[in-house]
Amino acid sequence: MSEKRVYTFGNGKAEGKADMRNLLGGKGANLAEMNLIGVPVPPGFTITTDVCNEYFEKGKDEVVALLKDDVEKSVKHIESLMGCKFGDASNPLLVSVRSGARASMPGMMDTILNLGLNDTVVEGLARKTGNERFAYDSYRRFVQMYGDVVMGMKPVNKEDIDPFEAIIQNVKAQRGISLDNEMNVDELKQLVTLFKDAIKQQTGRDFPNDPMEQLWGAICAVFDSWMNERAILYRKMEGIPAEWGTAVNVMAMVFGNMGNTSATGVCFSRDAATGENIFNGEYLVNAQGEDVVAGIRTPQQITKEGSRRWAELQGISEEERIEKYPSMEEAMPEIYQKLNMLQNKLEEHYKDMQDMEFTVQEGKLWFLQTRNGKRTGTAMVKIAMDLVKEGKIDEKTALMRCEPQKLDELLHPIFDKDALKKAKVITQGLPASPGAACGQIVFHADDAQKWHEDGHRVVMVRIETSPEDLAGMSAAEGILTARGGMTSHAAVVARGMGKCCVSGAGAINVNYKNKTVEIEGIVYKEGDYISLNGSTGQVYAGEIPTRAAELSGDFKELMDLCDKYTKLQVRTNADTPHDARIARAFGAKGIGLTRTEHMFFEDKKIVAMREMILADSVEGREKALAKLLPYQKADFKGILEAMDGCPVNIRLLDPPLHEFVPHDLKGQQIMADEMGVSVEEIQKRVASLAENNPMLGHRGCRLGITFPEITAMQTRAILTAACELKKEGKNPKPEIMVPLIGILYEFKQQKEVILKTAKEVFEKEGIEVKFEIGTMIEVPRAALTADKIASEAEYFSFGTNDLTQMTFGYSRDDIASFLPVYLEKKILSVDPFQVLDQNGVGQLIKMAVEKGRAVRPGMRTGICGEHGGEPSSVKFCAKVGMNYASCSPFRVPIARLAAAQAAVEE
Ligand code: PEP
Ligand code: MG
Repeated sequence: MSEKRVYTFGNGKAEGKADMRNLLGGKGANLAEMNLIGVPVPPGFTITTDVCNEYFEKGKDEVVALLKDDVEKSVKHIESLMGCKFGDASNPLLVSVRSGARASMPGMMDTILNLGLNDTVVEGLARKTGNERFAYDSYRRFVQMYGDVVMGMKPVNKEDIDPFEAIIQNVKAQRGISLDNEMNVDELKQLVTLFKDAIKQQTGRDFPNDPMEQLWGAICAVFDSWMNERAILYRKMEGIPAEWGTAVNVMAMVFGNMGNTSATGVCFSRDAATGENIFNGEYLVNAQGEDVVAGIRTPQQITKEGSRRWAELQGISEEERIEKYPSMEEAMPEIYQKLNMLQNKLEEHYKDMQDMEFTVQEGKLWFLQTRNGKRTGTAMVKIAMDLVKEGKIDEKTALMRCEPQKLDELLHPIFDKDALKKAKVITQGLPASPGAACGQIVFHADDAQKWHEDGHRVVMVRIETSPEDLAGMSAAEGILTARGGMTSHAAVVARGMGKCCVSGAGAINVNYKNKTVEIEGIVYKEGDYISLNGSTGQVYAGEIPTRAAELSGDFKELMDLCDKYTKLQVRTNADTPHDARIARAFGAKGIGLTRTEHMFFEDKKIVAMREMILADSVEGREKALAKLLPYQKADFKGILEAMDGCPVNIRLLDPPLHEFVPHDLKGQQIMADEMGVSVEEIQKRVASLAENNPMLGHRGCRLGITFPEITAMQTRAILTAACELKKEGKNPKPEIMVPLIGILYEFKQQKEVILKTAKEVFEKEGIEVKFEIGTMIEVPRAALTADKIASEAEYFSFGTNDLTQMTFGYSRDDIASFLPVYLEKKILSVDPFQVLDQNGVGQLIKMAVEKGRAVRPGMRTGICGEHGGEPSSVKFCAKVGMNYASCSPFRVPIARLAAAQAAVEE
């Protein structure tokens, strides 16, 4: 732990710098760096993330005592640079307090502004600025924010609006005004008193008057917010460790609400939704930061071009736009030029898209924050590829800049174009986060979660969202809000999550109590369907069918770049020609696993399958299998054809047979009628298939060993299909895989059946097709004896679902009953069925690859368990030298990127 707890900055100097983000948090490190590169930033100081950990170890009192001297000295540092004094009524200094973790965390306390005000200081501020209205407006905002985030003022019921907002509405209603900035000084003074009374009434505590007491309260509130429920949930979703902690940034206040030469805003050096290289953002004249984000007033655009586009979307005429919503470029041209120059400088410096906050105080521009901007998956790819083309970053950096998991957004369906033409637009909001979403309306986060758990697709409709809504937003297909701009909470969080979001749809009227939303005179209830286009901001009534996404443009270029660097190839797990084609279009280089059992469930096939299960002799089984053969052959032919020229790894029958028979009386009666036997006979057979531990029972190669005729039929189907294709001029490349091997002789026995059948097929067809015979490694004993097994098997495919199950001894179907407790008690940090356990299961894999290749040099190895599409697991597979990872079609691009990153990281 670092001895130095507090780092100051200001006036072009700083004790920290950009590469100290672990200690100073992202915000603190960048504030220091901005000072060093000549971007104007108000002076301040950062309390380190180490102190946050100390706070939770040693407790509040001890940490406050440890910090006391440093904080007081640092406050003096700000005072000397700003030429004013904290708590001094004649020449007051006010500060802002913000949290700032290594990674940006929307679930945490964000900002307290105007700290240092009390009943006497406010008078001084009024005198100093000659603006009493401004002073009291600042004061009421401070009491409101402090009351909320430090003193914990919240709505009592979930239907209630914010308690301070309710007081404001009352005061405005008494005067018959509708806008906050129409309130006069007396009303603002009245607000301060009413706010303080409400705080006392709800919390039982007095609002602190002493500025130093206020500061300590805010500092501790930042640390406390690191452990609030929302922050913990966000960390869990993003895989951020609790030990990282948050820093606290205290900075001199500059004011965007000191009249019409003052303003505040948020801007991006490129478009965070599309990735286009267009400077953009929003600002408000005579306002403070949270006005822009909270969506209480309609923000204006920074650039003229952006403003025109925005007005067009809102249906606002050019005259009205210029009069009411002029861009900063038009309204404050000099400041705009400076802002534009500095945003360029910051992007050049960080070589990435920047998300910046700024304030203009009486004509002087200050930057309050810069960070690498959150962006959609589409923007992530475009920005990375554009920066390469602009010569700002190299190809490897571009690959590392993209998060594999975020590609998921580019793979989601978009609205079917034809269906969209017929759909009715019911209102228009802002295109806050792209993609298509369709679902049933819900209004509250907990309802979104509940409906989602019950299997519904939902769209969450809110006036605006807050960090409390995080879990609901995550469960929803999309989010629609009545208020808020492109930088509102809903928009920023949705983009981070890759969720479709339409924000600021001002024409919708949400009623939380009745659970209704009125749009253009029509009332939509909870449960009604609605569709959102997050790329255009349009909202539609009803359900609109969607269409699969495709790999093209920048996305394709990125994938081509992956191929240039990767060593690990990516195949797909696919059981149908349709899935195989999707995966191939996403760049799969073959099939790593076809689960043949999935083919048995369609109508006639299941009847023949059940006949086979019911048979009590080899002859009976062979008769039923003969019926299955043509179906299987047709299925295999379809898949081999869809993957023509690429390897197709087909696994022999794997699951326990009880999965193919009905367990309810009605189903058993149907089966009895189909088979022409009594229901009792069916029940007897079903009972005989019951096992205590079916996952460890009569399944995998054990089926093929007890019933070799099944292996023979499947081999015949695969190879006949391949021969037919070859005769048609195609290039089938089948691989036959034996599941659940634990003993060399299991494999040998199955191999004999396969080879014997192959000989018969080739003789009959008069043609031969090259094929390979390999095995799954999914029983720990197979990994331990991989050298023996490799003497017979031509390749290994790691079935890490079963290998995880059998290594941990956790039933893969029952883990949900104890996993949450294991995660909570930190016995496990992640679900090992999703993220490969590199220290345990991974060691078995590493050993098996080495042992296998010691006997069979260069032996092909791959993974086909669920982990094959999970980035950290894919990287591990690359590290142990596997040849390929195989995953579901929609994860192919994710695995390709992870594999390329593994090669770059080497
Ligand atoms: C595995 O066990 O990892 C595997 C791919 O097989 P299945 O999931 O079908 O058991
Ligand atoms: Mg398995």
